[in-house]
Amino acid sequence: MADAPVHPLQQTLKDLERAYANFFAKRAAFPRFKKKGRSDRFRYPEPKQIKLDQGNSRVFLPKLGWLRYRNSREALGAVRNVTVSANGGKWFMSIQTERAVQDPAHPASSIVGVDMGVANFAALSTGEIIAPVDARKRHAQRLARYQRAMSRKQKFSRNWIKAKARVQKLHTRIGNIRRDHLHKLSTTLSQNHAGIVIEDLQVRNMSRSASGTVEQPGRNTRAKAGLNRSILDQEWFEFRRQLEYKQAWRGGIVVAVNPRNTSRTCPACGHVAKESRTTQSRFECVACGHTAHADVNAASNILAAGHAVMACGRGCQPLHAPRCVLEQPR
Ligand SMILES: [Zn+2]
Repeated sequence: MADAPVHPLQQTLKDLERAYANFFAKRAAFPRFKKKGRSDRFRYPEPKQIKLDQGNSRVFLPKLGWLRYRNSREALGAVRNVTVSANGGKWFMSIQTERAVQDPAHPASSIVGVDMGVANFAALSTGEIIAPVDARKRHAQRLARYQRAMSRKQKFSRNWIKAKARVQKLHTRIGNIRRDHLHKLSTTLSQNHAGIVIEDLQVRNMSRSASGTVEQPGRNTRAKAGLNRSILDQEWFEFRRQLEYKQAWRGGIVVAVNPRNTSRTCPACGHVAKESRTTQSRFECVACGHTAHADVNAASNILAAGHAVMACGRGCQPLHAPRCVLEQPR
């Protein structure tokens, strides 16, 4: 115990206390025991003990002394705490700071609807279609090879540990490619649009749309099975999280709408029929003959639902409205 600095130890107990409080308030599952090598991290909560020397890219942390680091961005404001974490054989430091910022007003005034899918990562109501990033597919072969090599090793032997590190490193790389893709997209959307309307999807709905229904089986169901599905769900929640905080930074808003019928409503005449979606990518209204790309069509419907939510104003508040630039006058 004496080897570890005292504040991170106390912080760990505080985190445990919060985990139990969340559990008893039914906000979270029962806290799990932490295993070595699994989300290894600790936090220095005492700003007085931390010295950040950004000019020389070094930081002083208690008991560790002066450490050099590679800068990803400038830390603005007063340091509040520092979290050190290990991931994929590398150490990362995340600095929380405090500073006063002006109330942001979003430079754009447009609003966009986003339909998230499986065949395409997303479609925008502007007609733009964003292809999925197949990070896993690209690395599938190598990943399988590394995993095979690991399975042939004696468990917990030196060579097994080395093989495991290789597998984990590749997993980290795949995750990084995904995250990079998400961040680029959420940043672009947040920069260009003051309002972003998304579907308020549940995990289960998302999975179902991948496999389709009995009458209308989804395509590529095999590819969506198992691990891929859980990753898709995670990706979706991560994307929403990014959009929400980025819009909060810029003074924009994110509106989540009920996804019901968004993919089977005709934007021209309002007719609702699931037969209107003839194929995965094609929408042709059975009532009026209006045609469009199915995902773009869904995105336009999501946008329309977002407009309705913002106009009605009660019972369906936007998720984040630090300063709602799009709010309708009462
Ligand atoms: Zn129609």
